[in-house]
Amino acid sequence: MKHYRNKDLCKINTFHLHTRAREYMIIDDIKDLATLDLNRKYFILGGGSNILFVNDFDGLVIHNKINGIKVTKEVNNYIYLSINSGESWTKLVKFVTKNNWGGIENLAYIPGTVGGAPIQNIGAYGVEIAESVEYVKCFDLINRKFLVLTKDECNFGYRDSIFKKELKNKVFITEIGLKLTIKKHNYKLDYAGIKEEIERRKIQKISPEVIANIITYIRRKKLPNPNKIGNAGSFFKNPEIEKNLANKLLKEYPNMPTYPTNTESLVKIPAGWLIEQCGLKGYVHKGAAVHQNHALVLVNKNNATGRDILELANIIKKNVKNKFDIELEYEVNIII
Ligand SMILES: Cc1cc2nc3c(=O)[nH]c(=O)nc-3n(C[C@H](O)[C@H](O)[C@H](O)COP(=O)(O)OP(=O)(O)OC[C@H]3O[C@@H](n4cnc5c(N)ncnc54)[C@H](O)[C@@H]3O)c2cc1C
Repeated sequence: MKHYRNKDLCKINTFHLHTRAREYMIIDDIKDLATLDLNRKYFILGGGSNILFVNDFDGLVIHNKINGIKVTKEVNNYIYLSINSGESWTKLVKFVTKNNWGGIENLAYIPGTVGGAPIQNIGAYGVEIAESVEYVKCFDLINRKFLVLTKDECNFGYRDSIFKKELKNKVFITEIGLKLTIKKHNYKLDYAGIKEEIERRKIQKISPEVIANIITYIRRKKLPNPNKIGNAGSFFKNPEIEKNLANKLLKEYPNMPTYPTNTESLVKIPAGWLIEQCGLKGYVHKGAAVHQNHALVLVNKNNATGRDILELANIIKKNVKNKFDIELEYEVNIII
C-alpha cells in the first residue's frame, strides 16, 4: 500500500486532466481494504477511462492495482475464471482469446480495469460483459465485509448495473468470475465492419483470437487514441425514447437511425447522430471539443479543464433537448 499527498492524476485519467487529489493511495493487496480509514471523502479509481474530474479532489483517491487471473474449473464446454479487479481488461481479453476461449472477444481493446467493466456493463459490437459474468465479488466499505453478487443480483442493463445505483460508492469490486466457452463459441459478427473485415482478410476459419484482432484493428482505426488526444470514449449514452416520440421525429427527420431495445415501447437513437444534427461535430469550447469524426466523443483539445469539458457537455445537452426534446444522459462518471 503506497500513500501520497497532493498527487497530480494527469497520467491516470484518460482525459489527461491535471486534477490533484489531496490524498492518493495504491492498493495492491485485498487485505489492505479492511485497514482503510474511510471517514472522509473517497473515490475508487480503476483505469480512469470513464471519469471526468471537474475540480481537484478534496479527499482520498484509492487506486486499484489488485492483480491476478485464475482458472477455477472446466465443465463440458465451459471454462470458469476468477480475475482480480485491478487487472487490465485489454490484457485479460488478450489472455483468454490467445487460449481461444470465447465470449468476450467483441469487447477487445476497451480501456480500463476488470473491476471497472461490470460497473457500466461494458458493451461493444453487439456484446455486453453481462453475458459472460458468473459473479462479482466486492468488499462492502460500509459494513466491512465481503459480498458475492450473482449475475442476476448485479441488475445489469444498458450501460447500467447495481454498482451505478444502490451500491454506488459503497463497495469496492475485488474480483469477477467469468464463464467462457471452450469450443462451441457463440460468435456475434453482425455488427458493422466485422464480416467485411473477415472477407477482406480472406479468413477461412474464425476463432475468438481472430475476432478480437479484427475488432482491435477496427477500433484503432476508428476511435481517437486517448494517449494522443485525451478522451473517455462515448460521453453520452444512446437515448432510449418512446416509439411515439420517435415516430413524430421520423416525420421531420426520415433518415434518423432507430434500433430496437429490450423494452417493446422504446427505441434507441444514436446520441452521436443527434449531436451531429445540431451542427456540433468538431465544435470547440475553450480547451474542449467535440471530436471532428465522432460526435459522441468529447476531447481534451488544448489543455482543457474538467469544467471546460462539463460546460461543453451541457451545451450539447441543451442543443439536443431544444431540437429533439430528448434528454441526453452522461455515460462518463462526473466527479464534482
Ligand atoms: C477510447 C475509449 C473507448 C471506450 N470504449 C468503450 C466501449 O466500447 N464500451 C464501453 O462500455 N466503454 C468504453 N469505454 C469506457 C471505459 O473504458 C469503460 O467503462 C471501463 O470499463 C472503465 O473502467 P475503468 O477501470 O477505467 O474505470 P474508471 O474510469 O477508473 O472508473 C469508472 C467508475 O467505476 C468505479 N470503479 C472503478 N473500479 C472500481 C472498483 N474496483 N470497485 C468499485 N468501483 C469501481 C469508479 O469509482 C467510477 O465511478 C471507453 C473509454 C475510452 C477512453
